[in-house]
Amino acid sequence: MERIGIFPGSFDPFTKGHEDIVRRFLPQFDKVIIALGVNSKKKYMFDTNSRIEHIQSLFKGESTISVEAYEGLTIDFCQRKKAGYLLRGLRNATDFEFEKAIAHMNEAISEEANSRVETLFLMTDKNLSAISSSIVREIKKNNGKIDQFVTNQELLIINT
Ligand code: ADP
Repeated sequence: MERIGIFPGSFDPFTKGHEDIVRRFLPQFDKVIIALGVNSKKKYMFDTNSRIEHIQSLFKGESTISVEAYEGLTIDFCQRKKAGYLLRGLRNATDFEFEKAIAHMNEAISEEANSRVETLFLMTDKNLSAISSSIVREIKKNNGKIDQFVTNQELLIINT
């Protein structure tokens, strides 16, 4: 059976921290799907298609990585994709507490559906732990430069 991992997030935008987590998980999987969670009621700073194209540009040439958007429960998406693993990054204790609660909820939901999905964690790279999408958005909103936090940031289109 193929070993498939899903890295879910809103990725508004996808930062160098996210990129590093994907590259470090990749050798352990046959396939990694970067899954952009789309909530139709939520307003994103960057256009969804440009976020997808931006992420695709970062992993051009990596045949085992794909980028997809999904709506609804992450566990339902994992089951549709026959993925046994959810991949997450941890920066600090706040991430840990938040991620622990979500991992336990997902464990419960997936067990009920009879196909357990395991959540796996990697610690952030020590040089990237301060990067967060929300701070990057704040910098961009105030006309600051974000290129040291986001590779190929010129591909991102701001929603008007
Ligand atoms: P969400 O919208 O689900 O909060 P994020 O885009 O904030 O999604 O993050 C998705 C995942 O990436 C989470 O597991 C988060 O902890 C992780 N992450 C975010 N920034 C970094 C970083 N700088 N280094 C490592 N992991 C990170």
